[in-house]
Amino acid sequence: MTIFSKIIAGEIPCYKVAEDERFFAFLDINPMAKGHTLVVPKLAEPEEDYIFNLDDKTLADMMVFAKKVALAIRQVIDCKRVGVAVLGMEVPHVHIHLVPLCRESDMDFRKEKLSLPSEEMASIASEIANAVK
Ligand code: 5GP
Repeated sequence: MTIFSKIIAGEIPCYKVAEDERFFAFLDINPMAKGHTLVVPKLAEPEEDYIFNLDDKTLADMMVFAKKVALAIRQVIDCKRVGVAVLGMEVPHVHIHLVPLCRESDMDFRKEKLSLPSEEMASIASEIANAVK
């Protein structure tokens, strides 16, 4: 079971942003920017690790779910737009990064990540959650 499946199952805590029957969104624990969110599909074991191995419908529906979350992030976080990235170099469970951007260099996976107090993470997650339509 991946760490993301454990998060979805509630076995590991997270700052949840949105959930439906098939997808789950939560704040990245080491955000590149305030509001950096991960969108993951709820997958049976063994979890798929590579986004382009998903079937067409799951991939399309995941992107539509990510869109809803991204629109909410854009409402709550001061940014020009929400960038989208797929890496999967660390956690072997398909996921999309949604990263609030003010400039191109805000999307840089090599730069030092933020470490925000848990109260701030909780409050960001709840504001985004309340903005999801
Ligand atoms: P990637 O697999 O796309 O290269 O990176 C995985 C991302 O997941 C990283 O940005 C990392 O900070 C995040 N991450 C790893 N473990 C956890 C975790 O236990 N909780 C949360 N919320 N994020 C995690």
